Amino acid sequence: MQEKKRILVVEDEKNIAAVLAYNIRKEGYECEIAYDGETGLEKALEGSFDLVLLDIMLPKMNGFEVCEKIRYRSEVPIIFVTAREEEKDRILGLETGADDYITKPFSFKELMARVKANIRRSSGEIAKAVEVEEAPICVGDLVIDKTRFSVKKNGEEVELSRKDYDLILFLAENLGKAYSREDLLQRIWGYDNYYGDIRTVDVTVSRIRKKIEVDPGQPEYLLTRRGIGYYLNDIPPVREEN
Ligand code: CA
Repeated sequence: MQEKKRILVVEDEKNIAAVLAYNIRKEGYECEIAYDGETGLEKALEGSFDLVLLDIMLPKMNGFEVCEKIRYRSEVPIIFVTAREEEKDRILGLETGADDYITKPFSFKELMARVKANIRRSSGEIAKAVEVEEAPICVGDLVIDKTRFSVKKNGEEVELSRKDYDLILFLAENLGKAYSREDLLQRIWGYDNYYGDIRTVDVTVSRIRKKIEVDPGQPEYLLTRRGIGYYLNDIPPVREEN
């Protein structure tokens, strides 16, 4: 029998947490609740969860801090649940390493679509990892290693969130080919425009550029094709993987 996926809800408003947990369990997941940031962080780091739903305004430690601290040690998918537009903007501007966000009020259908998409992607990656050792993809001084889920630049590990990595890998596997933001949203985040926000793609691209480009304002790797979208430049490899 397949084990139930486990979701951690970090939410201080007890009635909201209860409704979330009720609906999540109804969908066939296991659900635990943490009512403050510290407890949320502790539980998330136990490593038994497949996804974390994270509120931002929390007692003891806010959601941004919790997210950053989880990311030091864990790649568990994190979805921010935000109450306000300003928070949404902060998420988009911040490099917290969250995989997604959803703005309150949201429909439960929308939330579950995101939960499922994020879990599917993360478990898909793990399944792929066991499958085969694949040769790394080398682009310029970047080495994208599918077996280790890592990207190195000049031999140095680049710190990436899951979606950063997914996006680079996808574009590297389709080198030189441009994809629209809508298309990338569907392929990388796993849901259509109705559920997603194409700005998510732009934010991820600019975050990746800060990490891999010498001058993020004048990118050489992750390029924009005007009127179409984004692509990874086909630069001949400059060094071999050590
Ligand atoms: Ca709250």
